[in-house]
Amino acid sequence: MASFKRILLKLSGEAAMGDQSFGIDPPTVARVAGEVKAAKDAGHEICLVIGGGNIFRGMAGAAKGMNRTTADYMGMLATVMNALAMQDALEAIGVSTRVQSAVEMNKVCEPVILRRAERHLEKGRVVIFAAGVGDPYFTTDSGAALRASEMKCDALLKGTSVDGVYDSDPKTNPAATRFDRIGYDRVLADNLKVMDAAAVSLCRDNNIPIVVFNIREPGNLARVLAGEGVSTTVGA
Ligand code: UDP
Repeated sequence: MASFKRILLKLSGEAAMGDQSFGIDPPTVARVAGEVKAAKDAGHEICLVIGGGNIFRGMAGAAKGMNRTTADYMGMLATVMNALAMQDALEAIGVSTRVQSAVEMNKVCEPVILRRAERHLEKGRVVIFAAGVGDPYFTTDSGAALRASEMKCDALLKGTSVDGVYDSDPKTNPAATRFDRIGYDRVLADNLKVMDAAAVSLCRDNNIPIVVFNIREPGNLARVLAGEGVSTTVGA
């Protein structure tokens, strides 16, 4: 897996939450930042996308009567907060970063400018893409697939709380088995919980492998990138 020079790492907002049930836990963000630094020190170019589900999800707001579009913009703002928390944690350990948001917010970060993002990567900076695709009715999984495609990443790594893709939910079914590799089409046909369908099909159309692994286990990102860790690769 050493051939994955340029990666996009997608983390759900929950990865910033630690053992809390809501929000941002700075020590947890610091630990994940350490994982990102290790991957960068191993020679990878890193784009990051962090969700916002630890703070606000548009669907949850809409379910309680909010206008969906308004609620989704609030979700996007939540992803900017997570991006800033991650920027802070990375810079605290000497990793240079830039945040680029799909919803422009000039005082806190750059807008998404792909050529500029390219330059940041060339200079060894980690680029954190915030606010998903910048439109409601999407998710940060789709944002991750879009940025991975635009930035021509060699792989999209999805760090979650399980160590790959299973044929059924391993949290409820002890007999569930994990796939080492699985096709995009099977994931879509069987509606397996990897990323939402729009994100999976964008990766399929642009031939970007999706590597699902457990980010909660310390050292796992570097291990997976070295081809040693436990993960599932979704590919052609
Ligand atoms: N969101 C959106 N458009 C996007 C990305 C995100 O509207 O392109 C909103 C949506 O409301 C979503 C929220 O931001 O629920 C947080 O993102 P997501 O649910 O993807 O976060 P994660 O589950 O990865 O923590």
